Amino acid sequence: MHKLFARQLAKATKPSGEVDLNVLGELVISAYEESDRDQRRTDRSISLMIEELDQLNRDLGRMIEERTAALREREAQLQAQNLRFNAAVNNMSQALLMFDGLGRMVICNERYLRMYGVSLEVAKPGCTVRDLLEHRKVTGTFSGDTDEYIESLRASIAKGVTHAKLIELPDGRTVSVLNHPMDDGGWVATHEDITERRRTEKKIAHMAGHDSLSGLPNRMLFHERLAQALVGVQRGSQIGLLYLDLDRFKSVNDSLGHQIGDELLKVVAGRLRNCLREGDTVARVGGDEFAIIQVGIERPLDIAILARRIREAVRAPYDLAGHAVMIDTSIGIAMAPVDGIEADQLLKAADMALYGAKADGRGTHCFFEPAMDARMKARRALEIALRKALTAGDFDLHYQPFVSLEDNRITGCEALLRWTDPERGDIPPAEFIPVAEEIGLIVPLGEWVLRKACADAARWPSHIKVAVNLSPIQVMHQNLIPAVVSALASSGLAPERLEIEITESVLMHNTEMTIDALHRLRELGVRISMDDFGTGYSSLSYLRSFPFDKIKIDRCFISGLPDAKDSIAIVRAVAGLARNLNMIATAEGVETPQQREQVRALGCTEMQGFLFSRPLPVEQLSLLLEPYRVPLARSA
Ligand code: C2E
Ligand code: MG
Ligand code: MG
Repeated sequence: MHKLFARQLAKATKPSGEVDLNVLGELVISAYEESDRDQRRTDRSISLMIEELDQLNRDLGRMIEERTAALREREAQLQAQNLRFNAAVNNMSQALLMFDGLGRMVICNERYLRMYGVSLEVAKPGCTVRDLLEHRKVTGTFSGDTDEYIESLRASIAKGVTHAKLIELPDGRTVSVLNHPMDDGGWVATHEDITERRRTEKKIAHMAGHDSLSGLPNRMLFHERLAQALVGVQRGSQIGLLYLDLDRFKSVNDSLGHQIGDELLKVVAGRLRNCLREGDTVARVGGDEFAIIQVGIERPLDIAILARRIREAVRAPYDLAGHAVMIDTSIGIAMAPVDGIEADQLLKAADMALYGAKADGRGTHCFFEPAMDARMKARRALEIALRKALTAGDFDLHYQPFVSLEDNRITGCEALLRWTDPERGDIPPAEFIPVAEEIGLIVPLGEWVLRKACADAARWPSHIKVAVNLSPIQVMHQNLIPAVVSALASSGLAPERLEIEITESVLMHNTEMTIDALHRLRELGVRISMDDFGTGYSSLSYLRSFPFDKIKIDRCFISGLPDAKDSIAIVRAVAGLARNLNMIATAEGVETPQQREQVRALGCTEMQGFLFSRPLPVEQLSLLLEPYRVPLARSA
């Protein structure tokens, strides 16, 4: 019997042993009811569980879908990345290889295959550097020692440092190979063809060290070569340093144009190069300046022979675009170790020697002598004294009259600068004016001359002119016109009484600015004379560039009179030219009555020279001018 029913039966059994059916019935019914309740509860939790399971299932499904989508996306991304990586690797300008820790190749790009003409059969994953190098050795794209290469590569990678090598290929290409170590003991190799870059670098280096016009080494490279040569001197050898410039190159440039000038420099450069032996250096160190290092010399004569050879080569005539050109050169020579073992010292010595060569008359060579140093120092001292003289008032003007050849009467006086230094005494203008020009003192000094000459002349009879010499530097200076205007204004001198004398060298700087300055002076009413005519390079052409009022025929043509036939012809021609161009022709430096008669006969209209009067201090000149004073009433 079921235990529960037994208990219910027991409960419904009265003490009499009789079974109370009602009680039993109730008990059984309540037991059923209880059981029904349990059943319902169970059913409910089962259906809840099923619902939850369903939900879980749905969530899982969604999650799986999401994950799958994410994975697909990631896969697509990876694929794209791979494509990009492959494209990048294969389109690199460098060849790229990657090796694993066991030295087996993992990646090799197309550039590598193309660079060395290697096939995929050889450069397949898993191959080694040795495989590749041995193959390239056979096909001729590697000529080094394979074992040595691999050994040094391994050593670098083991140390964790980049292995870098420049490889010259048998076909002339240069490849820069870098092997970068990786953490796993492998390495990434890049090969870059740097042939073109090296060529460009070489070209740039050449350009930096060479002069583009002549193709010769420039000043910078010259200094390097000199430093190298001086190392040899320390070890006991001797070298010669020759410094040269072309005499009157500027005139060629100015009269025939810069193109012809450039052409001339090129040809000169070639001729100089041909004069040298291997190991010697010729450089262009300035406009028309060249410097030569002569190595392996034994005695000064060796350099003198070269200097002579150079002069002959430079002096040979040139045919430049149909123009026949002649040019000469002056050469300054210094030797190491005798004249110095420092570059600067030697260059200075050669420069001084060049200065000496020019002072000796152009077209020579000259060795440095210690006395030159002394002369240079004297020149420095002259510069200092000259600067002091202007403030100390040590300058004065003397006046030399010029006279009409018609009536032998004074028409004007030329102001000539005089300097009396307290220590040195009288110094001639030919000595100090070039120095004043070089140090720029000529501008203030020239202004002083202008002011003083105008002030003095304002006190002379009113038909007497005053001539003032201007140096090229003054003519080119922007203060010229104001200086002239101020000198005229403060003195009250009529502009027509002022004559400006310029030499042909002014016109050698035949810039628009020079000609413009002359025209502006002329517009003021000032007269312009061409001084020392005939001493320049291209005298007649200068006459065309400006309408002068007067030509002063240089003393050197007058001193040959009355006998020298060429002087006669020149003076006659120039005087004739002046007459035709409506200019006064003045003969300079007339010293004898015969010369005076002859210049008059040859057509000169004016003369100047010791015959009539030397340059005089202003007080003495005033006495000479006394007879020219007209009655006060007329001069006022
Ligand atoms: P220059 O302008 O041709 O002056 C004429 C020179 O010839 C003067 O020399 C004069 O003394 C000299 N002379 C004149 N007649 C005779 C003669 O019959 N025989 C000889 N042997 N010589 C004669 P100086 O005074 O020594 O001047 C030389 C040069 O210095 C001048 O040549 C001129 O170019 C320059 N100079 C003089 N004063 C000045 C100045 O104030 N400024 C500038 N820029 N240059 C000046
Ligand atoms: Mg003069
Ligand atoms: Mg003169």
